[in-house]
Amino acid sequence: MRVGIFGGTFNPPHIGHLIVAEFIREEAKLNKIIFVPCAIPPHKQNQGYLSQIASPHHRFEMVKIAVKNNPFFEVSDIEIKRGGVSYTVETVSYFVERFPTYTFYLLIGADQFRELHTWKDPDEIVKRVRLIVFNRYGYAIPESKFSQFADFITIPNIDVSASAIRSRVRSGKSIRYLVPAEVEEYIYAKGLYR
Ligand code: ATP
Repeated sequence: MRVGIFGGTFNPPHIGHLIVAEFIREEAKLNKIIFVPCAIPPHKQNQGYLSQIASPHHRFEMVKIAVKNNPFFEVSDIEIKRGGVSYTVETVSYFVERFPTYTFYLLIGADQFRELHTWKDPDEIVKRVRLIVFNRYGYAIPESKFSQFADFITIPNIDVSASAIRSRVRSGKSIRYLVPAEVEEYIYAKGLYR
């Protein structure tokens, strides 16, 4: 069993996340991809971001809705249940120990790969899982000491971010097609990102 772990804030989940995951699932021949919404993101600690972050419950529900039609996608509440600041090293350790016969891959976009050296215990992460690094519009992929632990996969450039979507909601603009229709409905029903 080859399993991808895809962590993020998913505030909200959008088509960028889904296209990334589907492409990588196919290219890397993964049997499934587990989306892992974080509790508190370690790298987005500024007050501006934290005030815009939907509750873990809402983000988890939105990811559940976003992936429900893809039989290869799952959502884990491991980071939300653990609570506090979410560290990837703890999450990958959990999966590797829980499912010792599986091979786990950690999905990392170009924006995150460049910051990997600032994460908690990156050396431990690459001991436990192989990295799958993919491009993200606007972010170059630098050579780094972690490159040797990574497979690089080119995906279509989708210039969509959760920040841009939140800002559109705030200014009353359409987010149709940027998020799955039911995620859009959820955002309006719960009054998120106003
Ligand atoms: P925000 O704009 O709020 O910072 P985001 O859109 O970057 O959020 P995250 O939940 O932080 O969304 O996404 C997790 C990871 O998914 C990102 O760090 C990035 O690596 C990847 N990702 C998100 N959107 C895209 C995209 N459009 N293309 C490629 N990768 C993406």
